[in-house]
Amino acid sequence: MRDSCRNGSVPEMQCPACGALEDRVVDSRAADDGTSIRRRRQCEQCSERFTTFERVEEVLAVVVKRDGRRTPFDRSKIESGVRSACKGRPVEESAISALSAQVEDRISTTRGEVEAAQVGELVLEELRRLDPVAAVRFASVYKSFEDPEDFEREIQLLGQEGPADSSSAATPAGF
Ligand SMILES: [Zn+2]
Repeated sequence: MRDSCRNGSVPEMQCPACGALEDRVVDSRAADDGTSIRRRRQCEQCSERFTTFERVEEVLAVVVKRDGRRTPFDRSKIESGVRSACKGRPVEESAISALSAQVEDRISTTRGEVEAAQVGELVLEELRRLDPVAAVRFASVYKSFEDPEDFEREIQLLGQEGPADSSSAATPAGF
């Protein structure tokens, strides 16, 4: 397998093999003395894998919580949240790690501040592909949702039965 390197930070990475702009991050780790991040990417078109090195100050985003507090984006928080949502599910640890790296990659393109709810949405988007059950669990514990409709929509996306009437009691039948 050919292994190409690209330096610098370009919002859209171009596949060195076919030129496609869509890729997924399959691994992400600190490089040098922690001042840069090395990412393994896989082209969505031709599956070529290539490596990028990005400087830390260019990839770290600040998460704005609902109460306005700001905190540096922390991939390990995503990982632990996803890990508990995946508990008992047939999900590999490597998949959780790749998911978190992918979310971090997407957030890094914002180059600044990102709302906590947005981070949750990105995680859910990735988690739905990985394990729908874990996605529902994650959604149910993710408190940054703006309102309960978000959770209902989540249930509907999975094609499961949600409450028939959003104004009715929160206790699901059969529980
Ligand atoms: Zn390609």
